[in-house]
Amino acid sequence: MAALLAAFGVAQPLFAADERPWYRYENDFFIAYSNASNWKARKILEDLEYFRGAALRVPGIELPVDTEKTLVLIPATQEEFAVLAENENSVGFAQPLEGRTVIVFPASGRTMKSKYILHHEYAHALAHVAPGLYPQWYIEGFAEIASSAVVHKRRRSIFIGLNEGRYQDASEPKIDWDELINDAFDAHDFDDVELTASAYAQYWLLAHYLTMSGSTDNISRLEQYFAQVENGTPSADAFQASFGVTPTELWELELKPYLRRIPEYRHPFSRDVLDTSFDREPAHPDEVESLLTFFTHKAEMVRGSERPLRPLASLPGVWDHLRMDDQCTETLTFRLSDGGDVLVMEDFYSGSNGKSVPGVFRIGHNYGREFILHNVTGEQFPDVTLTPNYQLSVRSDRVLCFDEVPATELCARVLQRCGN
Ligand SMILES: [Zn+2]
Repeated sequence: MAALLAAFGVAQPLFAADERPWYRYENDFFIAYSNASNWKARKILEDLEYFRGAALRVPGIELPVDTEKTLVLIPATQEEFAVLAENENSVGFAQPLEGRTVIVFPASGRTMKSKYILHHEYAHALAHVAPGLYPQWYIEGFAEIASSAVVHKRRRSIFIGLNEGRYQDASEPKIDWDELINDAFDAHDFDDVELTASAYAQYWLLAHYLTMSGSTDNISRLEQYFAQVENGTPSADAFQASFGVTPTELWELELKPYLRRIPEYRHPFSRDVLDTSFDREPAHPDEVESLLTFFTHKAEMVRGSERPLRPLASLPGVWDHLRMDDQCTETLTFRLSDGGDVLVMEDFYSGSNGKSVPGVFRIGHNYGREFILHNVTGEQFPDVTLTPNYQLSVRSDRVLCFDEVPATELCARVLQRCGN
């Protein structure tokens, strides 16, 4: 791994292992890596575990069976965290990765706000609502409801539903309601944080009213709306058809009065659902380095600060054999003629708003000779780079299926494709 890091020019002194050793923590639901003190790391993990216990009482959340444990990466300091974050205002974030969620959160400098964001991100993981199945306003609104779940230890209760900050903002909505539910609307398009906050508050209120009001009528209207959206009806049309009013009319007629009597739910809390006994052992250096490298590179790509020394040599002759097949949804599997550490980058769609975000796809340790691109579908535009040691790059617009690639010392062949 050292060679790979050196070739990429990634400065790693911040993470010098001898200064602050990394430990691995594990319970029934989380695997965490941290170089923070045992006390600090456990505090964050316990908070997450309590939140998990509370969020499970939110209607609509079921802990998926046999799911992969959520990964949590807890660098000790803000400076270390900043290296991994895509933007400088980030206080913590979560990233779906190979069927599981990875949460990255600094051990120091935490605030109530960052804790809340952490819960919001983890709520997405718990709700496991696949992007694309539901409209954005609902996905975010639901995460806002779930992240309002809190355990009150002394009162042995879980409270769900009231969210002071969102309540305030929702009382004075700044976003046009009809625009808010539009397919093209993106709450992060604004430079003004107040507008973004208002959008989330409005998402929260709308989702709250339709799922938490105790009205079965609301639930069935919502289901009707989802079914139409899934069939390709534009969100605004589906809304009007299912609710009989526009979102603006719904605000005037039903949401405003609902806000005045918005219910909070209380459930008994039992520690039995929690597993706060995290095992702790020294972390395997490869596991930690893989995660650190992944996030460092992803952040550099997004920030546009990637170092210029990354060679993008392509494999001669590859392009003659590329073939397009939009029907292909198979996993891409490449076999390499040499083993070792592999870093794969591609453009992938992240989020349901269809924006392409450059990212680092998968980092291998113990890969042996194979690496796999998951979830590459006909709608995506793979831009795969395998660097620096292998110097294979695959760049194209709508090319997904590959015929056999000429054997070289770098790449024996593309193994498995979509048939003919
Ligand atoms: Zn979210």
